[in-house]
Amino acid sequence: MEDCIFCKIIKGEIPSYKVYEDDKVFAFLDINPLSEGHTLVLSKEHYANVFDVPEDIYAHMNRVVKRIADKIQEEYKPEGILINQNNGRRAGQEIDHVHIHIKPIYEDTKIFSERNHRKRFDDEKMKKIQKELTLD
Ligand code: 5GP
Ligand code: ZN
Repeated sequence: MEDCIFCKIIKGEIPSYKVYEDDKVFAFLDINPLSEGHTLVLSKEHYANVFDVPEDIYAHMNRVVKRIADKIQEEYKPEGILINQNNGRRAGQEIDHVHIHIKPIYEDTKIFSERNHRKRFDDEKMKKIQKELTLD
């Protein structure tokens, strides 16, 4: 896509610190990392988000995520690795080219947790949601 910054990075028009590339997927270091090793894994073709990207490409992106996470673990031995993928502004997505974040968490890494904001729904509501979301 014309004015997509990530498409420009994939095409080499904007430099990046690439760590992986194949015919479908591209991965590079985040320019503004949470921590050492923060990596982004992208589809090479432009899709805005999880809703647009074909299932097989999303699956392949996740295969690459697994390999990079293993590599980070081996090299840096963080306390944990947070893997997330934002869809839509309210979910924290700034760049509308589907990408998965791999964020190593070290002893001093500050992380926002939504755990303190979790709810409890009653049985009726849980069953309603279950019915609405059960896949064919
Ligand atoms: P989002 O908020 O869309 O999930 O994540 C976008 C990420 O892209 C941010 O973490 C941001 O730091 C990173 N980013 C934005 N522009 C560039 C860039 O030009 N180069 C690189 N390597 N990362 C970028
Ligand atoms: Zn793009």
